[in-house]
Amino acid sequence: MKNYLVFILLWIFSKIDKLLASKEEKKLFRKCTLRVNAYIDEECKKLHIKKPLVVIGLISNPTTRGECIREGHVIRIDPLKGDEYLTTLRHELRHVWQWTYREDIIRWTHENIERNDDDSYRYNPVEIDARHYAEFHDDNGIMDIPVAVLEKMNENGKLTQKLKALLTVSLDNSDV
Ligand SMILES: [Zn+2]
Repeated sequence: MKNYLVFILLWIFSKIDKLLASKEEKKLFRKCTLRVNAYIDEECKKLHIKKPLVVIGLISNPTTRGECIREGHVIRIDPLKGDEYLTTLRHELRHVWQWTYREDIIRWTHENIERNDDDSYRYNPVEIDARHYAEFHDDNGIMDIPVAVLEKMNENGKLTQKLKALLTVSLDNSDV
């Protein structure tokens, strides 16, 4: 399905979410939308990326605060999962950056790292990079590791261990 169709569907769902929300929740939707709109242009400029379509809406997984879908063309942020909107936004925009400049690593990660294995998901290179960027607003060089090197580390069973050593931030914002 085309990205804009997915966006329209998600947007309709988010409108329904808003309609069904309580007064308190409506306030959070509004606050999140305002903050994201105020910040996103500057952040995209800093990352040299094309602005993705952004949907502020509910995400059914109880621990997921945001997600980057459609190869970085669409991001979603759930306003009811805490008010760290800008950290979540930076995290998701970093994934857009990864799709723009490091697509090979993203694809390799998707093919080689099991998402249902907690440890390897948390310690996979694209998530470590996105968490680091979200927190420190800079690059820790992890995305400069060539795929061939990641491949070798993975074959030796050393990848998770090596990536853990590069971990610079807490895992608090890992479920995004
Ligand atoms: Zn992520």
